[in-house]
Amino acid sequence: MHTETYRQLDREHHLHPFTDFKALGDEGSRIVIHAEGVYIHDSEGNRILDAMAGLWCVNLGYGREELVEAATAQLRELPYYNNFFKSTHPPAVKLAEMLCRLAPAHMNRVFFTGSGSEANDTVLRMVRRYWALEGKPDKQWVIARENAYHGSTVAGMSLGGMAPMHAQGGPTVPKIAHVRQPYWFGEGKFAEGRVGEGCDISPEAFGRECAAALEAKILELGEENVAAFIAEPVQGAGGAIIPPESYWPAVKEVLARYDILLVVDEVICGFGRLGEWFGSVHYDLKPDLMPIAKGLSSGYLPIGGVLVGDRVAETLIERGGEFFHGFTYSGHPVCAAVALKNLELMQAEGIVERVRDDVGPYLAERWATLADHSLVGEVRSLGLIGALELIDPDTGERFDKARFPKGFGVGTLCRDICFDHGLVMRSVGDTMIISPPLVITRAEIDELVRLAWEALDETA
Ligand code: PLP
Repeated sequence: MHTETYRQLDREHHLHPFTDFKALGDEGSRIVIHAEGVYIHDSEGNRILDAMAGLWCVNLGYGREELVEAATAQLRELPYYNNFFKSTHPPAVKLAEMLCRLAPAHMNRVFFTGSGSEANDTVLRMVRRYWALEGKPDKQWVIARENAYHGSTVAGMSLGGMAPMHAQGGPTVPKIAHVRQPYWFGEGKFAEGRVGEGCDISPEAFGRECAAALEAKILELGEENVAAFIAEPVQGAGGAIIPPESYWPAVKEVLARYDILLVVDEVICGFGRLGEWFGSVHYDLKPDLMPIAKGLSSGYLPIGGVLVGDRVAETLIERGGEFFHGFTYSGHPVCAAVALKNLELMQAEGIVERVRDDVGPYLAERWATLADHSLVGEVRSLGLIGALELIDPDTGERFDKARFPKGFGVGTLCRDICFDHGLVMRSVGDTMIISPPLVITRAEIDELVRLAWEALDETA
């Protein structure tokens, strides 16, 4: 089939996620047909460096035969069976054991799901159930952060703090509140009311301010009504927001003071992204629950889950009876077999250590050179996640939104130019993001930075 035929059929029948379908109809889609290592190939013969690892998930890179073989062998042996009631199968059991071995020591159970969104639905039900079993049924409020992304199911989008999502599709799940994100560049340095007055708040003071906002929200809701706080170690889809160093220690103190569970969403940060097996380890968070997905299988097949700490697990198991919750594909054998092989390969190849000691620091060094570009107001990275904040070179301030058509901005422009230059970067407002496969080499990082510079030049 030819590219134009695909485009035509796509226009006629295919509703894409998170897409202005009418606008897409005019331009047509890029048809991706093949991928190898860190590169995707489209139907017009272009090779594009995928600095987003698909959607933050293809951690081992494309084309790993071992994962194909693991899937094929499991498809032949047992393509499907469920884990309901008293049955299970070897891939689910082996994966559960391995995950608990890799997770922080106090996490010894896992509940499987088909995706990160389902994992966060599971979290919501687990924390409320936990407090009910503890004799505190009023502890139902879950506090999340503005501009967070926790999925697209109704519970996932309610936990998320993305206003445009809340504005579509009716009421969100009750008893979920949002507090400010530790986004110093956007809300500290350039916060409304602070612009033009000079940046008088340091990142560290701003991190503490955000933790204080969490405490204020707990007191407003009543500590006896608050069940949990959920956040990513580094906020991914919100803009690769790396919190100031002061943030997490201050948040931990607040949560301990009011006995509130900590849920750390590891869907992006888990499995090596920050140079540790989990982002929680990097920040020493000791969460009660950790939703996982994406890098668990390097995105080769859909699988997610919730790692459950001993405190919550013991209550649910000892006092809970049957937990009326689960998915047809919870611990799907083929997905579990691929995830297991993925984790074994990561261990055997020292992928996490490589991010921490080699390519992570190398990316930080090379990525930082983009700060010299007149369009860049801030550069940040940690492990293999990074962001560029675009600013107006004429004013040194953030871009005036009025200069761009509605729904379009300098980030969108830069993203499209990147694609045409052979580089996938993602834009969130005026922030450009990368999250490349963890197997990226130093030479490929050089190429990434060169292509990004060229795209910035053309954007400017
Ligand atoms: N949580 C985080 C932090 C995510 O980034 C995502 C997806 O991007 C999700 C949850 C939802 O995962 P899924 O798309 O697998 O449902």
